[in-house]
Amino acid sequence: MDNIELENMWRSVYRKLQSELGRAVTNSWIAPMTVNKFVSGTLYINAPSMFLRDWVVNNYSGKILELCQQENGKIRSIDVSVARPAQQRKTYAASDSSEASSVVPVVSKQPDDVMDFGIPLDPKLTFDNFIVGKPNELAYAAAQRIAESETVAFNPLFLYGSVGLGKTHLMNAIAWSIRSRFPRRKIAYMSAEKFMYHFIKSVRYKDTMAFKEQFRAFDVLMIDDIQFICGKDSTQEEFFHTFNALVDNNRQIIVSADKSPSDLDGIEERLKSRLGWGLVADIHPTTYELRLGILQSKAASGSVKIPDKVLEFVAHRVSSNVRELEGALNRITASAMFIGREVTIESAREVLADLLRTSERKVSLEEIQKKVAAHYSIKLSDMSSDRRVRQVARPRQVAMYLAKKLTTLSLPEIGKNFGGRDHTTVLHAVKKIEQALKEDVKLAEDVDLLSNILTK
Ligand code: ADP
Ligand code: MG
Repeated sequence: MDNIELENMWRSVYRKLQSELGRAVTNSWIAPMTVNKFVSGTLYINAPSMFLRDWVVNNYSGKILELCQQENGKIRSIDVSVARPAQQRKTYAASDSSEASSVVPVVSKQPDDVMDFGIPLDPKLTFDNFIVGKPNELAYAAAQRIAESETVAFNPLFLYGSVGLGKTHLMNAIAWSIRSRFPRRKIAYMSAEKFMYHFIKSVRYKDTMAFKEQFRAFDVLMIDDIQFICGKDSTQEEFFHTFNALVDNNRQIIVSADKSPSDLDGIEERLKSRLGWGLVADIHPTTYELRLGILQSKAASGSVKIPDKVLEFVAHRVSSNVRELEGALNRITASAMFIGREVTIESAREVLADLLRTSERKVSLEEIQKKVAAHYSIKLSDMSSDRRVRQVARPRQVAMYLAKKLTTLSLPEIGKNFGGRDHTTVLHAVKKIEQALKEDVKLAEDVDLLSNILTK
């Protein structure tokens, strides 16, 4: 086969692949390939990168061979290897001007398509469905402010917190809210991975200009889980430029991560500092109060009645990650529908056995006292002492509270172990901590941490 025959054959194969696999697939994976030569039964194909080569070999080589054989029965095998662009001949895509616009991924400027560029929004993730408590109130307020604001309030909004605490939820909520309030604004919501994907694609097609233009057309750009670009230097560089261009044009940027800007490793200093310029809002691990609130709200919209006692049990015993909390509730609901009996703490304990893990194990009072004393750096003997200074009295009350929550001991028994205190003292301590937990985030986190340590 001479070059022209090769080219024609490949063109025909390409068209068939396009109709079988769809344009998106062929544009992304097949268009960058070029036929190189045909030698003794083998068709040699060049790929511009190792990544593309592996992908095509693993996913499409069988199909490609089959279609090539339909064109020319002499083809026995195909060989895909990596050739740097300079060594490559003109690509098929570039050689066919009539196809050029479909081959190069161009984002339509029509508003309806804008979201397709990113990730579709989840209809369940709205402000209405977001339960606010101490741990997330700052993030929530900031998100609302951005959604309602006529002008750019602060840039960027940087939301951070560990997994399952509602970052993606808040970003979706902002997008929904802006959409309904300001339908003309163009919003892009995407993961950092998707951002990277678009960028790499534009580099592959030598079309970084179009990439820049696409991003600069957005009024609101949201990038979720920015930690994924840590260590990816060229993507960071591009993000930095995109970021600056948008900020300079008064566009709103919202970014989420699992850490604060300064704690992100593998991110360039100038980008780190730039990320911290606007408002940095952290979402703390959930407290018992917030977990209960979330469970009550989700249970109320569910189809099965779940007694408060059970919700309290779950709020106490399942971790701070809201996704796990939802999982627990779903399981309880499903099993209740399945067995058709009323949900009890016992039945919940059963269906959640693996989630509760070793927390089933009995916690001893000594352990509680030891761990609490260590946590607050006080002497173990102070658990039983008469000292009333706050640095000692508070931890002691926390220990009594945990003893009540985590053991089956009675109030008098607990009191006896705290230097022979009266049961009313213990009750007072429990009440006091319960009240304080509602207002004091730090305390709530301490208590949460301690009960996690003690029950796992
Ligand atoms: P992240 O992005 O921080 O990992 P997500 O936003 O995906 O967490 O939240 C995990 C799940 O928990 C989602 O289903 C979300 O709707 C739910 N969730 C998180 N926080 C809340 C909250 N405060 N109120 C209601 N649901 C929440
Ligand atoms: Mg998320």
